[in-house]
Amino acid sequence: MATLKLFNTLGRRQEEFRPIRENEVGIYTCGPTVYDYAHIGNLRTYIFEDILRRVLEYHGYKVKHVMNITDVGHLTSDADEGEDKIEASARRSGKSAWELAEMYTRAFFRDTERLNILRPHVVCKATDHIADQIALIRKLEEKGYTYKTSDGIYFDVSKFPTYGELVGQSLEEKKAGARVEVNPEKRNPADFALWKFSPKGAKRQMEWDSPWGVGFPGWHIECSAMSTKYLGQPFDMHCGGVDHISTHHPNEIAQSEAAEGVKMANFWLHGEFMTVEGRRMGKSEGNAYLLEDLIKRGYEPLAFRYLCLNTHYRVQLNFTWQALEGAQTALERLREHVRNARAVGGDPAQGKIPPLVRERFLEAINDDLNIPQALGVTWDFVRAHQNPSDKLATLFDFDRVFGLKLSEVHSEPQGELPAEVRELVAQREAARKAKNFKEADALRAKIAKLGYEVIDTPQGPKLRRR
Ligand code: AMP
Ligand code: ZN
Repeated sequence: MATLKLFNTLGRRQEEFRPIRENEVGIYTCGPTVYDYAHIGNLRTYIFEDILRRVLEYHGYKVKHVMNITDVGHLTSDADEGEDKIEASARRSGKSAWELAEMYTRAFFRDTERLNILRPHVVCKATDHIADQIALIRKLEEKGYTYKTSDGIYFDVSKFPTYGELVGQSLEEKKAGARVEVNPEKRNPADFALWKFSPKGAKRQMEWDSPWGVGFPGWHIECSAMSTKYLGQPFDMHCGGVDHISTHHPNEIAQSEAAEGVKMANFWLHGEFMTVEGRRMGKSEGNAYLLEDLIKRGYEPLAFRYLCLNTHYRVQLNFTWQALEGAQTALERLREHVRNARAVGGDPAQGKIPPLVRERFLEAINDDLNIPQALGVTWDFVRAHQNPSDKLATLFDFDRVFGLKLSEVHSEPQGELPAEVRELVAQREAARKAKNFKEADALRAKIAKLGYEVIDTPQGPKLRRR
């Protein structure tokens, strides 16, 4: 199969992907900070990472995907100042920090499941890995990379000469561009906290003993400790949103490489922002939508997924309701092709993928995950091609990358169903697959209230008006 080329932020150029171990790929993706619901901008990043994983699996690699859950230590400012986001959110809500983290983690996976994002093989919480983080800080301390201030243990970036390589900026350049220093005890503006002490006289909900005093880990150390623990070092790929290029990822690299003396990861991939009217979507910007908001307005989560597929991951995606409407329509039309092909007796097992179409599809996905182009290839094909079995075989094969659940589309026109009903049916299917029959039955009752009866068939659920 033709080779996969990816844009590597480290070095800023497209490179042929080669795994460290033959046929296996280790990926680490920075996960959510669970102090609030993920907004659809965050979810765009997870969809990009899911596409990356699916393309690697399409190429036959055995992927090991690790994602962290930041449930402690992420302060309101990325420069180690301000409050812990989770403790602050807990105070506002009246729930404990632990309860809150648990609740938002569950909400996060509910969203990613609805978007058909594959679950990482390892999901690791920062609070479950405090000992690993302390061990890593000790290692850095023994090697002379750390110093102590009145509020914590810091990493001295001047001891790590390649700091900022990822940003394409030398330490001198970074210093020159730095804002007025907020913490006068830091030796260099780019130094960052490895361990923060609990504030004097106050008890935090989340705090631990350490060789340096009671406190909590800095935000970056969890990713260094857990990526190496589960993937070894170096590992193949590390991903996140573009906002991680300037601080979080350089700090991870400094910690991991200073401690182990070898490269952290070979490939660094970053997804661009989702914007609203040209401004980055963010909780603090007040312009963030939740997946739930989209569902309430009658759109399917998979329509949002389609919307994301239609813009290359390194290009900003400006969210509008009109664009979402267009994505919902396009998805419905693609399903229509599946339904029609089935209705005239198409059988994917009997179909073939035309070699030229497959070649064009591969060319697109191998060109730094050019999914918009791969969708274009797919549309050209379904419009021009007549054989229903070939159509189904090709669509279902390509959908291993798109993840639009096209093979779950059956002959009745689901398009006429209210979005709410479709969503409930999808949730019930998920519950059934998870063998959670109690929930599946509760959902069946909800669907019945909306006037539909679910009939389970070997080809999947069918609906009848009651
Ligand atoms: P957080 O939960 O804030 O740590 O962010 C989770 C992920 O979403 C990170 O990989 C961020 O880089 C990414 N992210 C944050 N804002 C946006 C946005 N507006 N568009 C796309 N990705 C984002
Ligand atoms: Zn990280």
